[in-house]
Amino acid sequence: MKTNRENLPHVVILGGGFAGLYAARHLYKAPVRITLVDRHNHHLFQPLLYQVATATLSPSEIAAPLRGLLGPHGVGVLLADVQGVDTAGKRVLLADGELTYDFLVIATGATHSYFGNDQWAKFAPGLKSIEDAVEIRRRVLMAFELAERETDPEIRRSLLNFVIIGGGPTGVELAGSLAEISRNSLPGDFKNIDPREARIILIEGVKNVLPVYPEDLSLKARRALEKLGVEVRTGARVTNIDETGVFIGEEHIPARTVVWAAGVAASPVARTLGVELDRAGRVLVAPELTVPGHEDIFVVGDLASVKGDDGKPVPGLAPAAMQMGKQAAANIRRRLEGKPMQPFKYWDRGSYAVIGRGHAVGIAFRRFKQSGFPAWAAWLLIHITFLIGFRSRLAVLLNWAYSYLTFAKSARIITGPTPRLDQVEQGRALPAGSASAVDVAARVHATRPEAPPPVTH
Ligand SMILES: Cc1cc2nc3c(=O)[nH]c(=O)nc-3n(C[C@H](O)[C@H](O)[C@H](O)COP(=O)(O)OP(=O)(O)OC[C@H]3O[C@@H](n4cnc5c(N)ncnc54)[C@H](O)[C@@H]3O)c2cc1C
Repeated sequence: MKTNRENLPHVVILGGGFAGLYAARHLYKAPVRITLVDRHNHHLFQPLLYQVATATLSPSEIAAPLRGLLGPHGVGVLLADVQGVDTAGKRVLLADGELTYDFLVIATGATHSYFGNDQWAKFAPGLKSIEDAVEIRRRVLMAFELAERETDPEIRRSLLNFVIIGGGPTGVELAGSLAEISRNSLPGDFKNIDPREARIILIEGVKNVLPVYPEDLSLKARRALEKLGVEVRTGARVTNIDETGVFIGEEHIPARTVVWAAGVAASPVARTLGVELDRAGRVLVAPELTVPGHEDIFVVGDLASVKGDDGKPVPGLAPAAMQMGKQAAANIRRRLEGKPMQPFKYWDRGSYAVIGRGHAVGIAFRRFKQSGFPAWAAWLLIHITFLIGFRSRLAVLLNWAYSYLTFAKSARIITGPTPRLDQVEQGRALPAGSASAVDVAARVHATRPEAPPPVTH
């Protein structure tokens, strides 16, 4: 039954990612009117984006429409681009309008950083949105298609070279998954090329991949990647990227498909608050997750800079974002009840990076190192418990298990324009595609092709 909520305090939530969605879910029953604003119409399960990018899962398997998730609970959903916040006027500035609020929860996350080299974005897309994943998948599959027709061995070689820049969890997961599809899924599909000959090159600037993990886990991850056939280059700094490939100083690695998985920058919405930010542009929030000097504004998820009990910054991970969203909602409810707000406490269940089917490395509860199948099983369990509103968890699990274990072919659809072979031979960059409605299944549609995108972990 619809209730008249017009006179209730208005809570505006910016962003329908993990943090924003959890804030909304924990405010459903409070005496407030809630409006959630997002530039996309869907909530996205980012931890599995790399599987869309490598044609293992379809976009609709990892995204769910926000209206469907929130509408039945009386939450208003607005599809709009947030430009900034006018804190004095208590207004959210949209690209095409504005909204007033009594309480504001900002959860617009992070975006890619090319460290001042934004011109690289065209040649090396990042992975943050469905559009990014579909574009990377298109480039990967198209490279195999073009290599099949190419007669010049050098050009064919550069088409079959895949470079991933950034050896954090996203880069490692992408490299492992690319190696698996080229070794296991694609052979047999082509006549003139052997996809197993594809070179997957992972470049990391510091001495180890997964540098946030203890050294022994990083080394295990490296060995597992190499076993899959990934060439791991550590201590190598990329100095340029163009349509011909990647440069590490004087060295040139010819490659037509390059993916950027290094560097994160906070959502630009933070800058409009006029408050202190950390080096990554995140808002330095109070322990209660409010913006200092603005007790009606909460910042949560990847956009918030806050320390855990151990004094270390809370990592940019999905569980942390969910827990912050929940805490912001609890504090709004306490404010309405005239009770003091409570500080945020991060409960670290663990963080994992998947290297291949049945193989991962990670740390559970801050101290238990895991690798191999047990780590992969723990990763799966944690991710399934994250799942929000995706039909049923069991159905999704079965679906994923099927696609994952059978190397399903259904996700290997190419969308966007077909490049001409002569243009490729002239060394021109492959034309960018678009996330077409054919592919981004009917329930989920992309609304804004994101500019150079982000990588968070
Ligand atoms: C490829 C990848 C893999 C990852 N893997 C893992 C993993 O395995 N495990 C893990 O725990 N974490 C993982 N993460 C990190 C995790 O996804 C993030 O920590 C989490 O999504 C942060 O949640 P958030 O709500 O703060 O931001 P997001 O989930 O990024 O949500 C931000 C929302 O705000 C919207 N938005 C942004 N700007 C605007 C604007 N101006 N106007 C309107 N709407 C806007 C976006 O559309 C989006 O819906 C991964 C991230 C990526 C990119």
